[in-house]
Amino acid sequence: MNKNAKIYVAGHRGMVGSALMRLLKMQGYDNLITRTSVELDLRDQAQVEDFFKETQPEYVFMAAAKVGGIEANNTYRADFLYDNLQLQNNVIHQSYKQGVKKLLFLASSCIYPKLAPQPIKEEYLLTGPLEPTNEPYAIAKIAGVKLCENYNRQYGCNFISVMPTNLYGPNDNYDLQTAHVLPALLRKFHEAKINKQDTVEVWGTGTPKREFLHVDDLATACMHLMNTYQGNVSVNIGTGADLTIKELANTIKEIVGYKGDIRWNTNKPDGTPRKLLDVSLIHSLGWRHSIALEEGIQSVYKDKF
Ligand code: GDP
Repeated sequence: MNKNAKIYVAGHRGMVGSALMRLLKMQGYDNLITRTSVELDLRDQAQVEDFFKETQPEYVFMAAAKVGGIEANNTYRADFLYDNLQLQNNVIHQSYKQGVKKLLFLASSCIYPKLAPQPIKEEYLLTGPLEPTNEPYAIAKIAGVKLCENYNRQYGCNFISVMPTNLYGPNDNYDLQTAHVLPALLRKFHEAKINKQDTVEVWGTGTPKREFLHVDDLATACMHLMNTYQGNVSVNIGTGADLTIKELANTIKEIVGYKGDIRWNTNKPDGTPRKLLDVSLIHSLGWRHSIALEEGIQSVYKDKF
């Protein structure tokens, strides 16, 4: 992409989209197109068609999605499936119709089978049943990956997709009902410290393992792939290391400086036991993460609270 290329960042106010915007601006890209969800409802086919005809973007980062933690995915199941299918169908199809030079679609590591061998290689996609709590979201994202692949195969498009691991960073969601575990625990421990609570409730058994990547690292990976990668394999993006929810809770407790106890609520679901990505492909393509987990959590905590 040259510096004055016309680039549309879909979902620019979300955690991923805003990280991409920061990086693009920092690198001197100044022809960026954005629309808020009020200005443009990406679920609406006619609106998206008009928008693409009018703006004619050359490059598209598809970072718009309905996202949330385990509880949100499990509760708003129809919305997660319908909204995500609509958004991505419209953006990917119009990118094809209007001759977008390259599109990057953000999928997710949760689209791999629940019991995939670890670490998860790209080729394990569609080799087994999905985790039930986020099956609707996963089905939508799998459809998006396949849409990119098959527009390439049938129409010769250049649409790539990526599989980020669990993300955290600026502009995360801190609503306890819908948040992912990392921001939820930062908030819970912080509020417990301020309110001098004796205990903090953490969900599940604490034994599931998760991998976490700072969203600024994801942004550099996306830029790297946008500039260098072409192909139908949806590339894993992660750190290659994971930890248990119990270890994560203790790390966050320490960073926040909370002195009380953790109470495990095992009525809440654990979700997938483990989802560690195999990152050898992206390493071989010349990218590695640079923000260590503790350092990343500390900076997020300092900025947010
Ligand atoms: P997942 O990676 O799709 O399962 O999504 P989450 O980030 O929401 O949850 C990851 C793990 O953290 C699950 O095992 C949750 O049960 C556990 N967890 C522990 N406490 C919390 C919490 O306060 N909020 C969330 N969202 N998850 C929690």
